[in-house]
Amino acid sequence: MPVTLSVVSPMYDEREALDHFAARLRPVLDGLGVGYEVVAVDDGSTDGTVSRLLELRADWAQLRVVKLRRNVGHQAALAAGLRAASGAYVVSIDADLQDPPEVIGEMLAKARAEHLDVVYGVRGDRSADTVFKRRTAGLFYWLMRRMAGPWVSSQAGDFRLMSRPVVDTLNDLPEQRPVYRLVVPSLGFASGEVTYVRGERVAGATKYPLGKMVGLSLDGLTGFSAAPLRVATWLGMVTFVVCLSLIVSGLAAWGFGFTVPGWTSLYVAILLLGAVQLVCLGMLGEYVGRIYAATQNRPRFLVAFDTGDEAPASRPVTSGRA
Ligand code: UDP
Ligand code: MG
Repeated sequence: MPVTLSVVSPMYDEREALDHFAARLRPVLDGLGVGYEVVAVDDGSTDGTVSRLLELRADWAQLRVVKLRRNVGHQAALAAGLRAASGAYVVSIDADLQDPPEVIGEMLAKARAEHLDVVYGVRGDRSADTVFKRRTAGLFYWLMRRMAGPWVSSQAGDFRLMSRPVVDTLNDLPEQRPVYRLVVPSLGFASGEVTYVRGERVAGATKYPLGKMVGLSLDGLTGFSAAPLRVATWLGMVTFVVCLSLIVSGLAAWGFGFTVPGWTSLYVAILLLGAVQLVCLGMLGEYVGRIYAATQNRPRFLVAFDTGDEAPASRPVTSGRA
């Protein structure tokens, strides 16, 4: 049977969760009645995840194991899985059963019935997560909505179904560290949602300590905006105006003789140089920002369809990349 559905799951030290994951995922996929593969990406685990995967593979032919050489992090492991996946539809799912596999059938049915390219798993209830996790996640998505754009959903993580054109587009991105939950909605493919209840991690501990969450936020922030660079420009402009008025008051003080000799020249020189430096730093930032955007080389647009195309399905995705 040709592969209709690929299920990509990045795994980092998930040995304990693995058996539960396989036991719940397999009946769901077997019951779909379509050709499928499970792409398990081992992200440099050191707890025997790979050997257990290879054991499971012995009587589950559809299980593929992609082993990475070292731990590269969730998003990069996902990238490896998307590249390996061959299905017409690809679902990405966590291995800890926080994303219920039963929803996959619903996602696929919805995508097919409504001709959607992306179906997001939207967390209707996050009460299984800790207060700290919910608060920091809330802050992360608020920041991302302000920086990246209003399309960022605070309830959609990396549990989603994508069609082949979407996956091909993602595989083509020359970007080094894409944050998929921000990049996918920004592409503008036709999308829908399926609500689910986020469960408890079935076994083991979270593989997303605070350091990795901060890293993800920084990738998201810098991946979508040069705004942090622009801070220097604004700071420079404000300081420049403030310094000008201080210079005027300093000169006036000198004129009225309220100063000790030598004070005015030093005062003016320090203020002027400080302001000029910040403005120059800001200008430099503007150029670095533009160079950065150019090296990212994201497609400027994606054509959904073109009535001039005779067989749109057989054509590669058209993109506006320079
Ligand atoms: N993961 C990974 N590499 C990492 C960290 C996490 O592949 O460096 C995987 C992990 O095995 C899991 C998924 O990413 O399948 C989500 O991680 P986790 O459940 O620990 O994150 P949380 O749900 O706590 O945010
Ligand atoms: Mg989890």
